[in-house]
Amino acid sequence: LNRRLAEFGTTIFAEMSALAVRTGSINLGQGFPDTDGPEEVREAAVRALRDGRGNQYPPGPGVPELRTAVAAHQRRFYGLDVDPDTEVLVTAGATEAIAATLLALLEPGDEVIAFEPYYDSYAACIAMAGGRRVPLTLRAPDFRPDLDALRDAVTDRTRLLLLNSPHNPTGMVLSREELTAIAELAVERNLLVVTDEVYEHLVFDGEHVPLISLPGMRERTVRISSAGKSFSFTGWKVGWVTAAAPLLSAVRSAKQFLTYVSSGPFQYAVAEALALPDAYFTGFRDGLAAKRELLSAGLAEAGFEVYRPQGTYFVTTDVAALGEKDALAFCRSLPERCGVVAVPNSVFYDDEKAGRTQVRFAFCKRTGVLEEAVERLGRLT
Ligand code: PMP
Ligand code: GLN
Repeated sequence: LNRRLAEFGTTIFAEMSALAVRTGSINLGQGFPDTDGPEEVREAAVRALRDGRGNQYPPGPGVPELRTAVAAHQRRFYGLDVDPDTEVLVTAGATEAIAATLLALLEPGDEVIAFEPYYDSYAACIAMAGGRRVPLTLRAPDFRPDLDALRDAVTDRTRLLLLNSPHNPTGMVLSREELTAIAELAVERNLLVVTDEVYEHLVFDGEHVPLISLPGMRERTVRISSAGKSFSFTGWKVGWVTAAAPLLSAVRSAKQFLTYVSSGPFQYAVAEALALPDAYFTGFRDGLAAKRELLSAGLAEAGFEVYRPQGTYFVTTDVAALGEKDALAFCRSLPERCGVVAVPNSVFYDDEKAGRTQVRFAFCKRTGVLEEAVERLGRLT
């Protein structure tokens, strides 16, 4: 492994999911649902396969049906006006969108300010692009960003802000006021902003506001989302980027040489998913809101300190309340102790002290599975 990637090794999600399989534990670690998304969307994929749509290389920017559906979805939910031909790019999940965006926009040595705890691919992709990550630490209990610290973190080398709201792993959702302050700073300091909005439909308290909708941001924001989390098909790896044409074209240049294209038939199915009625989106969110309550209450009962998430399908806890000193060691021992797998937030921080005893649990699982997990966690010794 080269020097740029030496610190990354194996992602914690792979380690913890393998541990769950090996020990037969309930996997509340890696964030994927244990129930697939809507039947009609699955059928749409089958139809596309059978009808020979997408079985050969789709067009580089994505199939027109999906680009049109992405634009229509953004108009429906946020009143955004996006040109499907010049402002939408389909990617292999949000993961490729993040990689392509950073590879396209960063010069070696450029600084990228991002919230920590980071989603793990951010640090790796910044490194692959030769950039320098500059953390803005979100602190318990509410994980709100310190906007004065953000302002102070901007230097002459700052190229872009990499934002994630709803935020994985903490569940923090940026408010309109916070986003407005960030937008003002971006305009004042002439920064680009990349927004990872894969949990846009999973906000339980407050509302999801795309930064790109705020004054001055249309020309300087690269907005990323994906079908995995909104439609419970994380294996399909269909994501997308929307941005003003000059930015989008830069990202497309990089994307061409990463995967060129991907997920042909699934692109048609996701086009149909994006057009599902509002009731689908609210039903999906309300179902997860109930699971948030179930798991949060169970964890609190079991003695964890619980930081209530406003969005996403993760809940961050602190295990110091259980007398634990190290989240990674705790997560590695948890399967043996009670047959449950979780993810240590500590690996998502540069600041070792900040998240040392934080542990994340996913609640995108069937109710019975969560109940069983809660029971097991209650027996933790
Ligand atoms: N960003 C965040 C914050 C995530 O949690 C994830 C995982 N879904 C991704 C990006 C990657 O998304 P995808 O599976 O579409 O590549
Ligand atoms: N986004 C998911 C999570 O945070 C998993 C992503 C992955 O495995 N790379 O758990």
